[in-house]
Amino acid sequence: MAKEDAQEIVFTQSRLSTFEKCERLEYWQYRAGGSKDQPGSGIDVIKTPTYFVEGEFGHYALKHWYRNAKIGGRMLRKNMIDRIESMLEDMELTPEEDNEYRIKLAAMVGACHAYKGHYKPDFQKYEFVHVEEPFEVQLAGVTFKGIIDLIVKDKDSGMVGFWEHKFLSQFSASDYACLPINLQQLVYTLGFESIMKKAPKFYMWNVIMKSKLRRKGMKPKKDGSMPVPEPLVEFENRVQKEYMDNPEKMFRRPPPRLVSTKATETMVKDVLAHIENWKAFAKKNSVPPMRHASCIGMYGTACPFANACAEKMLGHAQGWNAPACRGLYRRKEHLHPELAKNREDDNEYADEK
Ligand code: SF4
Repeated sequence: MAKEDAQEIVFTQSRLSTFEKCERLEYWQYRAGGSKDQPGSGIDVIKTPTYFVEGEFGHYALKHWYRNAKIGGRMLRKNMIDRIESMLEDMELTPEEDNEYRIKLAAMVGACHAYKGHYKPDFQKYEFVHVEEPFEVQLAGVTFKGIIDLIVKDKDSGMVGFWEHKFLSQFSASDYACLPINLQQLVYTLGFESIMKKAPKFYMWNVIMKSKLRRKGMKPKKDGSMPVPEPLVEFENRVQKEYMDNPEKMFRRPPPRLVSTKATETMVKDVLAHIENWKAFAKKNSVPPMRHASCIGMYGTACPFANACAEKMLGHAQGWNAPACRGLYRRKEHLHPELAKNREDDNEYADEK
């Protein structure tokens, strides 16, 4: 088995939710890349989807903002730009792709700067008990690991609960209605208990809408010539202004949801059933069947592993490393890189404190 898996089976809520969407997708991301007898740590798409990069960057910025609550928050532009450079360095991008990521991340910097101004009162209203706190719980016979964005105490009511930051393109009343059945909230409720030794009173989504503004000067003029593109820093400032002018539209904090013990107990039973299914595939080291209904439309776009599945359907032994998939996928070094990455960047602001 993969290195981290030698002693125990490690899951995250994201891994389980991937398995629930498509068993084959969980196989690609967490078990592929090994041999017939030995599972690997999964494979990654070489070009990390932009929504993932945006979310990772936003979490990085807000982590440092709340971790430095005692000194009024800390989120320096220089550090954000350095972070963008190191994120892009890790990816193999064409110049066009590099440009696409820089535009998206410049918009995120603008959003984060506006966040600082808009939510400055947070430091008076709340006590931030833990920021990006890792947890580990035993659930249905496997170890679940995760990181809670914020454990928060409301200074007025004295209630303690948790927040999750969400960087979204859309968020509606029906999304809010689904929060009580959201797997992440349910698993993280157990995570909260393991950290705080008591159940949370509430959980809340701290929603930051993504800007729909576009960088100017990216389309050819009528005569076919290309205009000079808007400097990224100007685009960033324009986005920041959009958030500052429309905070009620761009920043949303729907009312917190109260935690139900009954809901958590029911979720544990459901998780048990899914884990038993997973164990049956893992025991035989088998490749699960495709879930065709999930292939198109996942995350609002086609599944990034569609090419791997298509090659496997055509008879290639592993699919993902077929000649037709060259340059699309690579073996993962860690089973759960998101957990390792969080620890690595903990000290980036150390010299500024
Ligand atoms: S292409 Fe379809 S079957 Fe294959 S991993 Fe993606 S969702 Fe699953």
